[in-house]
Parts: sequence; C-alpha cells; structure tokens
Amino acid sequence: MEDKVIVDGLTFVPYLRREEIQKQVSRVAAELRHDLEGKNPLFLCVLNGAFIFAADLIREAGLNDASISFVRYSSYAGLQTTGKVKQLIGLSESLEGRDVVIVEDIVDTGLTAVQMIQDLKKLNPNSVRFVTLLHKPESSKTGFQPDYVAFTIPPKFIIGYGLDLDGKVRNLKDIYVIEE
Ligand code: 5GP
Repeated sequence: MEDKVIVDGLTFVPYLRREEIQKQVSRVAAELRHDLEGKNPLFLCVLNGAFIFAADLIREAGLNDASISFVRYSSYAGLQTTGKVKQLIGLSESLEGRDVVIVEDIVDTGLTAVQMIQDLKKLNPNSVRFVTLLHKPESSKTGFQPDYVAFTIPPKFIIGYGLDLDGKVRNLKDIYVIEE
C-alpha cells in the first residue's frame, strides 16, 4: 500500500487495506450465497465504479446459475453529487420474474440507489436486492438502507478499488481517503 496518493493536486491517505476489503467482500458474498442459493439471480453491476467490487463479489459468491449484466447512470463529476436526475442505460435483458441484485460501489446521498430501484421495479422483477461496497449513512438524503454493505464509512471522499477521482485511480488495490 502506498503511504499517500496525489491526484489532481489532492492528497489521499490509506483507509482500507486490500486484505480487509477481501475479508468483507467474502462476508457479503457468503450472505448472498445463503440468500440466493437455488435461484438464478441477475447481478447488475453499476458502471464504472462497481466493476472491481462486482468481479470479486460474484466470484466469491460462487452462484454458478447467476448471470451478470452492466448498467450505468450519467457520470459523477468532481467531489460532490450533482443532485440531478440521471438516466439508467445499458439494460438489454428482460427483468421479468428475475431476482435482481444491484451491485454498487458507494451509497452517498442514496438518490441514485432510490431512483435505480424505482426504475427497475417497473420492469416486474421477482425481487430487487441492493449490495454496496461502501455506505455513507451520514450523507443520506433519502434514508435508503442497502440490503448488503461491506463497509459503513463517514462522509469523506474515497478513491481506489474501482472508485475514481475524475476517471483516475480506479486501479488502486487499496482504498484511500482524502487527507484533512
Ligand atoms: P448518491 O446518489 O448515493 O449520492 O451517489 C452515488 C454515486 O456518487 C456513487 O456511485 C459514486 O459514483 C459517487 N460517489 C459518492 N461518494 C463518493 C466518494 O467518496 N468517492 C467517489 N469516487 N465517488 C463517490
């Protein structure tokens, strides 16, 4: 793990090590396996941020009948959510009767999550579950509570393990927090 990461003139310091991430990803994967065994769930990985988490999570979950698809909302610029209504794109398969598992990188205000669940429920799935790597309950504007959470964190800006700063540093194996 690097001592610090400087990106766009901002300094980030270590926050969650890869071993700790793996441990919590395994825990959440086991919960999903328990709840979805015998079903053929459809994982919906929310691009771009969740791609690394989703890759680790679905391999750990070991649900061989599960399928995975990728969706996205309009991108997130800079350090703050815009609060604008975003459009869900990329969904090509039918959700009719499916057990859908949304895989997100982070729930901040909860606005994206609430909108997404609302959009997906219109497509008549059998169930919709929501998994997130990170949850910032103190930033919530919605009271939204994800079904599965790897880490509950304070309302600070995070990068690495899929999470970016203006498109960069998604590759970092550990998670870093902005230095105060
Ligand atoms: P929400 O709609 O819950 O406010 O925002 C969710 C989205 O905001 C996440 O999917 C992510 O793209 C972005 N976001 C919120 N907090 C952070 C953060 O600490 N770091 C990064 N890189 N993105 C964040």
